[in-house]
Amino acid sequence: MADMTTNYARSKEVLPMDPHVVLTSHTAHKSSRFIEIKWGAADPADRGPIVGTISDKADRNAIGSHGGSYSIYRALSIAQGTFPTDHRPDLTDTEPTTRIEPQPSWSTPGEIVSLDPWGAGIARHFGHHLEDGYNIQPTIAVTQAHLQLPEIAEAIDANRLQVDGHFVGPEADVSVTKVAIDPVWHLPSMAARFEIAESDLRRVLYMETGGMYPELVTRPDLEILLPPIGSTTAYVFGDIADLANPEVELTLRVHDECNGSDVFGSDICTCRPYLTWAIEDAARTAQRGGVGLVVYYRKEGRALGEVTKFMVYNARKRQDGGDSASTYFERTECVAGVQDARFQELMPDVLHYFGIRKIHNLHSMSNMKYDAIANSGVEVVNRLSLPEELVPADAQVEIEAKKAAGYFTEDDVSTTELDDVIGRSLDE
Ligand SMILES: [Zn+2]
Repeated sequence: MADMTTNYARSKEVLPMDPHVVLTSHTAHKSSRFIEIKWGAADPADRGPIVGTISDKADRNAIGSHGGSYSIYRALSIAQGTFPTDHRPDLTDTEPTTRIEPQPSWSTPGEIVSLDPWGAGIARHFGHHLEDGYNIQPTIAVTQAHLQLPEIAEAIDANRLQVDGHFVGPEADVSVTKVAIDPVWHLPSMAARFEIAESDLRRVLYMETGGMYPELVTRPDLEILLPPIGSTTAYVFGDIADLANPEVELTLRVHDECNGSDVFGSDICTCRPYLTWAIEDAARTAQRGGVGLVVYYRKEGRALGEVTKFMVYNARKRQDGGDSASTYFERTECVAGVQDARFQELMPDVLHYFGIRKIHNLHSMSNMKYDAIANSGVEVVNRLSLPEELVPADAQVEIEAKKAAGYFTEDDVSTTELDDVIGRSLDE
């Protein structure tokens, strides 16, 4: 308690607390430095940089601020007095380790609505704006890494995967290019994607966040929203440029976050087995001259969050008859109001960012994912479900419920009686 008091006192001392709140919600505040965004323009000079930084409010041409959900933590640090309000990032040596070349999809109307394809090469595309003093922050970053996973070591031991010293190293480490992508929403294109009126989209976003961004409703001239939601990470196995070449075999997994399984190994679902199986197969694809891609979306618990998810687990396990495949989706809907809130409609944007036109091997059972990809104009050749031996015992409920609901599987589903597939009880 003493510490908190000290911190609070200090923040009151050091913060240059301007008692005036400048409302940015009226068009009268638009300055001569305001850069209009021409979303979808093929030339970045025409498109213009997205300025979402807070340091020079007159320069801003976006609603919200950078960093997705972390924008809130930054505000907290500033409130506490530990973070400068006007920080400008020093971008020296931060540029991508691999260039992602512009693709036709970057300027095809409607192909990309929820990320900024020009968000990685800020110095290259918007150098003169930086010289003019605009505080432009990258929304995409690219780096290299080696992945070490016990499942990959097991795959090598089982002779499913070979050490080649390049894609898979002697320490069972898998080489990847990692691409971190923050959300950048173009509201008119988003509304078109969802087939709703832009004014309705803006109004509902404003109201359902408790009025978080008044500009959503008062500044229709601001078309960009930097929403306070999680980012997306793409892991590329092999040459990133090959993603855009339909002649090169592509193995893809589009994975929605499941922290309990992905990180902690919780066995109620198949998320981590699906993820590591896809990484293994992506590495194998790169080894035979193809390219692998695993995209990780921060959409925990079908984008309903872990609190809802854990309540659903309890409701599933406590219901009459125990955790049953026949009532799997019903319990989610009872608690959350919907079965799924992931909006796969936005998922293919990352694929279009890399210029993907053809997927040879899609690791997914989800028809929602498949339909979103196919409807966005990308060809899918083969769909792959998780091998039976990799499904944890308690996750049989999830798998059988999904198969019966029409999720894609290579297995025969007709012989399974859903009422007979029962998961572990809460006290087991
Ligand atoms: Zn899961």
